[in-house]
Amino acid sequence: MAIKTILPEDKLPTKWYNIAPDMPEGSLVPPLDPGTGQPIGPEALAAIFPMALIGQEVSTDNYIEIPEEVQEIYKLWRPTPLIRALRLEKALDTPAKIYFKYEGVSPAGSHKPNTAVAQAYYNKEAGVKRIATETGAGQWGSSMALATQMFGMECTVYMVKISYEQKPYRRSMMEVWGAEVLASPTDRTQSGQKILADDPDSPGSLGIAISEAVEDAATHEDVNYALGSVLNHVLLHQTVVGEEAVAQMEMAGVYPDIVIGCIGGGSNYAGLAFPFMRDRLRGDKQVEFLAAEPTACPTVTKGEFAYDFGDTLMSTPLLKMHTLGHDFVPAGIHAGGLRYHAMAPLISALVDAGHMDAVAYTQNEIFEAAIQFAQTEAIIPAPESSHAIKAAIDKALEAREAGDEKVILFNLSGHGYFDMSAYDQYLSGNLVDYAYPEEKIRESMAKIPKMG
Ligand SMILES: *Cc1c(COP(=O)(O)O)cnc(C)c1O
Repeated sequence: MAIKTILPEDKLPTKWYNIAPDMPEGSLVPPLDPGTGQPIGPEALAAIFPMALIGQEVSTDNYIEIPEEVQEIYKLWRPTPLIRALRLEKALDTPAKIYFKYEGVSPAGSHKPNTAVAQAYYNKEAGVKRIATETGAGQWGSSMALATQMFGMECTVYMVKISYEQKPYRRSMMEVWGAEVLASPTDRTQSGQKILADDPDSPGSLGIAISEAVEDAATHEDVNYALGSVLNHVLLHQTVVGEEAVAQMEMAGVYPDIVIGCIGGGSNYAGLAFPFMRDRLRGDKQVEFLAAEPTACPTVTKGEFAYDFGDTLMSTPLLKMHTLGHDFVPAGIHAGGLRYHAMAPLISALVDAGHMDAVAYTQNEIFEAAIQFAQTEAIIPAPESSHAIKAAIDKALEAREAGDEKVILFNLSGHGYFDMSAYDQYLSGNLVDYAYPEEKIRESMAKIPKMG
């Protein structure tokens, strides 16, 4: 029995899969201008994104060629392995077959370089000299630092201040790859100055850091902005994960009954899921989809499906998505990558149309699953990815009760080797479970703009 399925190099994907033309009728709605409430055209984004990426954002082509330079860089860590979790299956005493796709083998330790490299490439082609971006726990910032380094560009990372102080090694990683890392809020942007005037000791948030990076890009000619999740073009780039997985599952002689992933902004899950969703939307297969998120930031399970801003200071276009309100700041859970207030519009629309389900877990639940995984499958998973592991374990246990040999596939979006202090807290029994912050969510949801 092969535990690991590796794709031969000549079978690597050469195209990204764009789900837009396969989406349910009427499920895709345009972004709106925050001032006029009218749909915005592609030109509204030209101050911060290169035209090639804007084109991908609105593309109705089913497939988009991966540039050769990008394919070459992907080969540094792709294909990533598809692994059958035989030892976990045995520990769970389940007849289910559990497979996972392991994205932690990239240099930055997660799926994020799949889009960072593509975004750096198109910006370089457009003559952009520097990328401004934000990072929470540091996974996106380190991926963008790596990508800009590979293309000889500069990179400024606005890192949420509390993480800047708590995650010094992620910061070092970005600096090794040549990025300038600033603790956000900074006094370099008007957005940062505004926040600091109200609260000089602000710990920062992802929403604030996005406002700063967008402003930096919008006010400098040769500087662009890059976002690590949520947007259509980001999800598009991540489909290399799922296209590889489709081929690998075929090599292993199986097809998934259920595809699982964790969701922060939705990109790693979309990357794995969309090439299988293609089969469901076209009526070829009955596959199910389950997304896992934290109870402390329950965007899809408790949020509203509505037009909202992507950032705290209301400077981005309005997107229709699941949201907890643009000024919702979740508790400081260790799954930093899952602390965003909103969800990718493509994922939101699929949930709304009944093609995808979501579930939420507490910190202690996911660390328990992470430890069981590490003790059977050896890899120490990222806290974010552990939400997917928990969902896969639950499904495997359900299958045991039902005597069902179902095939479970999940995305292991990254490793947890920079998260050992979180494991330390769990093991010493000091990890806090945050209850569903109902009151706080009600307050911030009241501020979701009333559109259409
Ligand atoms: C950033 C991150 C996530 C969450 O982002 P998505 O866009 O939802 O994928 C999940 N896992 C890891 C390891 C991450 O770094």
